[in-house]
Amino acid sequence: MAAPLVRIVSKSLKQLSRPSWRTCQSGVRSRTISVPATDSLQPGGVSSFPPLQTYSEEESMMREAVKKYAQERIAPHVSKMDENSAMDEEVIKSLFEQGLMGIEIDPEYSGTGSSFFSSILVIEELAKVDPSVAVLVDIQNTLINVLFAKLGTPAQKEKYLNRLSTDMCGSFCLSEAESGSDAFSLKTRAEKHKDFYVINGSKMWISNAEHAGVFLVMANVDPSAGYRGITCFIVDRDTEGLEICKKENKLGLRASSTCPLNFDNVKVPEKNILGEVGHGYKYAIGMLNEGRIGIAAQMLGLAEGCFDHTVPYTRQRMQFGKRIFDFQGLQHQIAHVATQIEAARLLTYNAARLKEAGRPFIKEACMAKYFSAEVATLTTSKCIEWMGGVGFTKDYPIEKYYRDCKIGTIYEGTTNIQLSTMAKLIDKEYDV
Ligand SMILES: Cc1cc2nc3c(=O)[nH]c(=O)nc-3n(C[C@H](O)[C@H](O)[C@H](O)COP(=O)(O)OP(=O)(O)OC[C@H]3O[C@@H](n4cnc5c(N)ncnc54)[C@H](O)[C@@H]3O)c2cc1C
Repeated sequence: MAAPLVRIVSKSLKQLSRPSWRTCQSGVRSRTISVPATDSLQPGGVSSFPPLQTYSEEESMMREAVKKYAQERIAPHVSKMDENSAMDEEVIKSLFEQGLMGIEIDPEYSGTGSSFFSSILVIEELAKVDPSVAVLVDIQNTLINVLFAKLGTPAQKEKYLNRLSTDMCGSFCLSEAESGSDAFSLKTRAEKHKDFYVINGSKMWISNAEHAGVFLVMANVDPSAGYRGITCFIVDRDTEGLEICKKENKLGLRASSTCPLNFDNVKVPEKNILGEVGHGYKYAIGMLNEGRIGIAAQMLGLAEGCFDHTVPYTRQRMQFGKRIFDFQGLQHQIAHVATQIEAARLLTYNAARLKEAGRPFIKEACMAKYFSAEVATLTTSKCIEWMGGVGFTKDYPIEKYYRDCKIGTIYEGTTNIQLSTMAKLIDKEYDV
C-alpha cells in the first residue's frame, strides 16, 4: 500500500506551531505565497491582512502533494476513464490510500484530520487533472463525511466514518425525476413500523452510486407535514429492495457514475436515521450550501487545468512567422480569461475562509459556484479556439474540459437557483 501522503503531511505538521507560516510556496507559475495568516501590525499601527491566496504551511504542503499525486497516479488514466465512462478502481483505491476521502474526518476514525479549506484545495488540484475524480472526492468530503461527523450517533460514527476514510464511498440522494430544483417536493416515502421504516420510491442522478457502499437518502416520513417530514436515512448498499440502476450516458464527467436508484420496500432500522426525524430538509440545505464551495473549487480547478494545457501551446504554435501568443488579438483574450480565473479563485477562497471562520457565507458560496461555472465555460470554450483545429480533437484534453464544465451550471443548484438565492439575501440586506 502506498504511503498516505496527506495523512503524513497533516501528522507531521501537527508538531509545528500553527502560525509558523513561511514563504516557501512555489505553486503553479509562482502564483501564491505563504505569509502570516493573522492580521499583523505594520509600523505606524496600520493593520494589514494577508492576501486571500495565503496558505498555511499544512495547506501548501497538501496542495503540492496532491498536485504531484494527481499527475502521477490519475493523469495516466483520465482519457481511458472518459472513453470507457468508468472510474478506474485503482484510482479510487489510491484516493483512499492517500487520505483524500476523509480529509476532515478525525484521526480517531482513521481520517486525515485536516480542514475544510484543505478539502477545497484538494478538489481544485484534482479537478485540474480530472473533474470526475474531483467530484468523487468533493461529494465524499463536503457532503457525506460532514453529515456523519455532525449528526452521527457515536455508533454511526464508529461504523461509518472509519470506512468512509479508508475504503467506502458514499452517495447523497436527494433529487428525483419530478423534484430537481424543487428538491423538497420529493415523493420518496418512509413509512414507520415498530422500530423500522420501509422506504419506497426512486431517486435520480445519484453521483458515485456505482461504487458507493452507503447512501444518505432523503425520504418523507409524513407527507402531510410537507417538507418538514423529510428525514435522512442511512441505507447500506446491500439492503434488500435497493436497486442501483444503469448509469447515465453523459456529455461530460463521464468517469463519474450517475445512476437512478429504486427503493422497493427497503427496510431500514430506526437506528439508521441520521440526525432528527423531519430535519432532513435542514441538513440538505446546510450541506448543499457548503457543498457549493466544493463545486466552485471543481470548476476553478477545471478552468485552471484547461488554461495550463493551452497557454504553452499558444507559445509554441507558429503562424505568419511568429508565435500565435504574440498576436495582440490572442494576448488580450488570454489576459481576460486569466483575470476571470483569478476572480473565480478569490470568490471561492473567500467563501471557504468565511465558512471556516464560522461567518455567514451562503451568498458568497452561491456567487463562487455561479461565477466559477461561468468562468469554466468561458475558459474551456476559448481554449478550444486558441488551439485551433487540434483543440477540437481528442488528441488533446481540451475538448474533455469543455464537456466536463457544463455540469457546473446544473448540479448542487442550477445557476438560476444560485442567482435566486443571492437575490433573496440581497433583498434582505436592504430591509430597514
Ligand atoms: C451529473 C449529475 C450529477 C448529479 N448528482 C446528484 C447527486 O449526487 N445527488 C442528488 O441528489 N442530485 C444530483 N444531481 C441532480 C441535480 O442536483 C439536479 O439535476 C439539479 O438540481 C437540477 O434539477 P433538474 O435536473 O430536475 O432540473 P430542473 O429543476 O427541472 O431545472 C430545469 C431548468 O429550469 C430552471 N428552473 C427551475 N426552477 C426554477 C426557478 N424557480 N427559477 C428559475 N429557473 C428555474 C433551472 O435553472 C434549469 O435551468 C446530479 C445531476 C447531474 C446531471
